[in-house]
Amino acid sequence: MPSKNLFEGLENKSSIFKNREKITPHYTPKKLPFREKQINEMVQSLKAVLNSQKADNVFLYGKTGSGKTACTKHVLAQLDEYIAKKSVNAKTAYLNCRNYNSKYKVLSNAVHSFYPDKDFIGYSGSFIYEKLTDYCSKKNLNLIIALDEIDKVKDLDELIYALTRANDEMASGSISVIGISNMLTFKERLDPRTRSSLCEKELVFPPYNAQELKKILTNRAKEAFHEGAVEESAINLASAIAAQESGDARTAVMLLLRAGEIAEREKKKKVTDKEVEKARKSVEEEIVFEMICTLPEQQQLVLYSIAQLTIQKKGIRRLGHSIEKGVLLSGEIFDEYKKIASHYKKNPVSARWFQQYINELEMYGLLSTTASGKGMRGNTRLIKLAFEPKEIKTTLEKHIGE
Ligand code: ADP
Ligand code: MG
Repeated sequence: MPSKNLFEGLENKSSIFKNREKITPHYTPKKLPFREKQINEMVQSLKAVLNSQKADNVFLYGKTGSGKTACTKHVLAQLDEYIAKKSVNAKTAYLNCRNYNSKYKVLSNAVHSFYPDKDFIGYSGSFIYEKLTDYCSKKNLNLIIALDEIDKVKDLDELIYALTRANDEMASGSISVIGISNMLTFKERLDPRTRSSLCEKELVFPPYNAQELKKILTNRAKEAFHEGAVEESAINLASAIAAQESGDARTAVMLLLRAGEIAEREKKKKVTDKEVEKARKSVEEEIVFEMICTLPEQQQLVLYSIAQLTIQKKGIRRLGHSIEKGVLLSGEIFDEYKKIASHYKKNPVSARWFQQYINELEMYGLLSTTASGKGMRGNTRLIKLAFEPKEIKTTLEKHIGE
């Protein structure tokens, strides 16, 4: 009798998931409903490389979870496929600027992709630049670099300037940029020259509404779950929650993933709205904490100061009002921030930058601000943290000064 294989029967036999991977946020689905227009415009902007010409620079913006990364990866994958099939002299690259946050890192990565076995660490910026332009020019190569979360690049003006200059200097070949940002006001903060260069074409990604999220989730559930393993009410609730919170498809996808895991753990036959409801808190936390961990260090310090003060202080009292819990004055946060920055041996930023950081933290939904209005002396901003200060503080302590 043949002996039984040691691994026999040990595969994951989920009664819920058919292919769990397909409901994770990292998976790029082939079908991206409600983004046909954006995808088509991207294709129109890039098609010039098929005729050995420079593609337009394109700037994509919209809130987190509006499909920017997924659409870009999808379009680039399609272009790569076509380039290979038709031997087009073009090349695409995708970088997330969380990991490549300077001109030097972005350009080195591009050069490294041309010479995969060579290591360019330690070479000067001008050497890297020469290598890049030489390569594109000699090979008559039209390069497209997608820079996701481009707002994380510290010297973006210099980067864009270098790329613009490269196109002027190269005898043939070209370099184009697809810039992507979750920050709606990022464009306005760019140097006018950088802006006009980077934003030749602009594509807006609006948030999804509940109906759209429902369709998106239904499609993805079909690929990821066994037939009949997800009740419609679960999809409806996940869509409604995500639509309410900012039209973020990522939240919707995560809710259904975690709800599926709960159903599996609890040996349920189906994912229902109960599991989605149970998943809600942990998904919200997961998304917030991931965002906090990837903030630039100075913003982490500002947020840390707010969490610290919220824990220490009772709140503020306006004339004739009871104490408002968790509300802080912008000035006292700035003082605390300067103390904390010096504790971590960091140079504190100016008051103007500090206000800018507060604006950004508000945009990310981590805090809310109001003008002090009546009942307070002077005109100051009141600031309130949107999440549990203790948890924010503990999370940040693990990340600051690493
Ligand atoms: P952004 O880059 O704008 O923050 P992503 O492209 O990362 O958003 O999308 C967030 C999640 O939602 C990803 O898992 C993505 O696959 C999914 N998603 C976004 N838009 C769609 C869509 N139209 N159809 C299917 N899935 C989508
Ligand atoms: Mg993205």
